[in-house]
Amino acid sequence: MSFFVKGIFLEQKKEPMLTRSTLVMRQEFEYFDCNFPDVAIDELSREQIIELARLAEIVDESDGKMLWEKLEKSNLGEGGTFIVDAVDDEPYISSQMSIGIHQPEKLALGIELCERVLSPEKTYIAMYRHILDSNFGIPKKIGKYHVKKIGGRYPAESRVHRHIPKGKNSVIIGACAMLHLARAAEESRKMTSCFITVAGDVVKNPRNVEVPIGTTAEKILELCGLTEEPEAIILGGSMTGRAIFEPENEKVGPMTRGIIALARSYGTYSYTCIGCGRCDDACPKALSVCAMRKFADAGKLDMLMQYDVSMCIGCGACSYVCPSRIDISATLLKAKKQIELAKKEGTL
Ligand code: SF4
Ligand code: SF4
Repeated sequence: MSFFVKGIFLEQKKEPMLTRSTLVMRQEFEYFDCNFPDVAIDELSREQIIELARLAEIVDESDGKMLWEKLEKSNLGEGGTFIVDAVDDEPYISSQMSIGIHQPEKLALGIELCERVLSPEKTYIAMYRHILDSNFGIPKKIGKYHVKKIGGRYPAESRVHRHIPKGKNSVIIGACAMLHLARAAEESRKMTSCFITVAGDVVKNPRNVEVPIGTTAEKILELCGLTEEPEAIILGGSMTGRAIFEPENEKVGPMTRGIIALARSYGTYSYTCIGCGRCDDACPKALSVCAMRKFADAGKLDMLMQYDVSMCIGCGACSYVCPSRIDISATLLKAKKQIELAKKEGTL
């Protein structure tokens, strides 16, 4: 199978979350002191915009890096492309998309400020195209910025550059970080909150929510309400998240995309590998997944390195398609951590 048709089709369910406005949890805002308070937003220099991102302590939700550091390092110039990540290709999840849909002015302002730092030749907002449960249309433009609809198999996020050519070079920054940058410029407000999709078949009021960083999953589920006690709660994306068993002790951070509460647990048990090869077909990185899983189980870290385990993006597609319900993705993630540790200790 060719590299480009790998991945899997997933049913997207985003309607209730996208068509309703974001629910904001009550919180105390925090502000920073700016040493250039009288400079109009239109006149902020490159250095001042980077300083705002630093003072506001903005984390880019797409990769967990500090926004100011990314901005400081990058200067795209002619032939460069700036991509705003609002892809949200996992089922249910629409926390980045919702920024563009419900707060377009803030998103556009954040992008404009970043453009002043990055000087790209082209700028695009990337959003996932296939929202099957909705008549809701993705806009063609937000402010003056073109929205590129990213389609195809999951994980679409890993193939953004098939839809948006890199040009000479490119930078990808998350939509939530753009909104926090706009708030920093307009209100000197620190990033103390994150945007999360709350969904699943026992959630009474499925919504995108804005909650303080560090809020527990339990409190967030209380905010949206439950119709019955969930048997399974997933923290993170519906594909890349993990099951949690103590929601009162699990806190959300800038990179948490969602909380999914389900009536039925699919159990933690798995069966023996039947060698069907579906995991290999599903992998968007065309890795030999089944072989890597065997090496991981046998603790053969050197073989895993030879099979390029470092290229695994943790998308979870292999675990999703496995008929034996083996959590291959989690096994590989654990093995990658072991490799990192062994390298640090000089044993590999
Ligand atoms: S989690 Fe890793 S191995 Fe599994 S499909 Fe995704 S990239 Fe491939
Ligand atoms: S999909 Fe599951 S059962 Fe099939 S080869 Fe991969 S690990 Fe084995």
